Amino acid sequence: MATKEEGKTVFDVEAANVLSKELRDAFASGKTRSYEWRISQLKSIVKMCDEHEEDIADALRQDLSKPLLESIVYELQSDCKWNLGWDFNTTRSEFTNEETSNSTLTMVKNSCTLAIKELKHWMMPEKAKTSLTTFPSSAEIVSEPLGAVLIISAWNYPFLLSMDPLVGAIAAGNAMVLKPSELAPASSSLLAKLIPKYLDCSSIKVVEGAVSESCALLEQKWDKIFYTGNGRVGRIVMAAAAKYLTPVVLELGGKSPVVVDSDIDIQVATRRIIVGKWGCNNGQACISPDYIITTKDCAEKLVDSLKKELEAFYGKNPLESKDLSRIVNSDHYARLTNLLDEDKVSGNIVYGGERNEANLRIAPTILLGVPQNSLIMKEEIFGPLLPILTVSKIEDSFDIINSGTKPLAAYLFTNNKKLKKQFLMSVSAGGVVINDTALHLAVHSLPFGGVGESGMGAYHGKFSFDTFTHKKAVVYRSFVGDASVRYPPYTRGKLRL
Ligand code: NAD
Repeated sequence: MATKEEGKTVFDVEAANVLSKELRDAFASGKTRSYEWRISQLKSIVKMCDEHEEDIADALRQDLSKPLLESIVYELQSDCKWNLGWDFNTTRSEFTNEETSNSTLTMVKNSCTLAIKELKHWMMPEKAKTSLTTFPSSAEIVSEPLGAVLIISAWNYPFLLSMDPLVGAIAAGNAMVLKPSELAPASSSLLAKLIPKYLDCSSIKVVEGAVSESCALLEQKWDKIFYTGNGRVGRIVMAAAAKYLTPVVLELGGKSPVVVDSDIDIQVATRRIIVGKWGCNNGQACISPDYIITTKDCAEKLVDSLKKELEAFYGKNPLESKDLSRIVNSDHYARLTNLLDEDKVSGNIVYGGERNEANLRIAPTILLGVPQNSLIMKEEIFGPLLPILTVSKIEDSFDIINSGTKPLAAYLFTNNKKLKKQFLMSVSAGGVVINDTALHLAVHSLPFGGVGESGMGAYHGKFSFDTFTHKKAVVYRSFVGDASVRYPPYTRGKLRL
């Protein structure tokens, strides 16, 4: 699999070539196509989650200081009693290991459970209508696995973003390799340890590593590449895929706006914005609110409410709060503090701004009246900073959103039916939530993915199966009814028919 160089194991292009050949051979053997293989692998993932829930939570804590509750809700168990309507005042210390292990299903487990339940139905050929031209005939759409696929995942939800695409690739009957992110080393190493133990290691492989390992894999021919991460690397992935005309799914990010109208329940809106921003990995989530747009009249009220609720959730000294993740590494810490320190916005901080370089913590920070041409408004923030822009009338927010690239998510808080309609018509985004944030991620009957620069392709639920499947068009004919009209010679008489 990998060569030894000065005592170090190297995963280079040659090793990647050997690995991709092994996966092609495994796929060619036909075993991954069978219903039984797919079900057995999906069941093994459920078992793996059950038996290693604590190890997974521990790896997430090591990589990101992720609060236990957040790990449980977002990466471990999505249907736990605390989900959606959880009590925001409950602290981490109130959750015991027993409560954690009492969990029934995980986000990943939910995906497995759904696939196990629906797989027979998903795999079944779908009848299609035929036309007079093909009479007599029948037709169907056959769901065919693609072959050997490459999954490259990101650090911010290192377990979920690795395992969820894997579930789709398995359900669709492919062989696959997963390359987790090097920026979440504890999760990466746990996945590399557990996956071969629980899953068929001749058809499902894990390669740990960073850019060079990723590039070695990208040099190979794959039948699909599923990449989660930033747009700069997305372009590298797409360029590499072009060599073999390999289709790609790019799960990227962007600046996800929140538009706040004045006719709302401000406390409920504020709490929902906070949980989507700081409650999701301290803003290091692809669908985190990136900035708010509200009217000049509403801004002060909104800031007051945000301050009040933030203090209620994270206390007077949020740098000490156990309910906030830390910044993933010193590069991202420097990137974020640089955004805060820019002259154009450094005077606009109305709440927070505290930081501690030693433990990579940045407090929830609100900036009001930020100019549109500031650095913080040019790039995806991906951290605990939340700028608020003000407009004279709320409809002006559409132009601001549309002046940037299409976001992964867009949120609107309003009771105004006309505004909801206008928003849906005017704003293009991967997904939209009205009167909440981030929740579309948890609805498995919805496709999850971006549009424009926030990505291409989608997954979750049946969409994950479809994303790793080729829909093969099949027409069946018999030997009767062999109309001679389409055979030469093309006489005038045949044209008149
Ligand atoms: P990252 O640094 O973990 O990189 C993602 C993957 O790309 C890693 O496995 C890494 O090894 C690989 N990689 C990095 N540089 C590479 C290169 N030059 N060539 C080949 N491979 C390379 O993650 P990130 O990019 O910092 O992730 C954050 C971004 O991802 C944000 O923009 C966020 O919005 C987006 N994101 C999107 C989703 C989604 O589902 N749409 C989910 C999470 C994160």
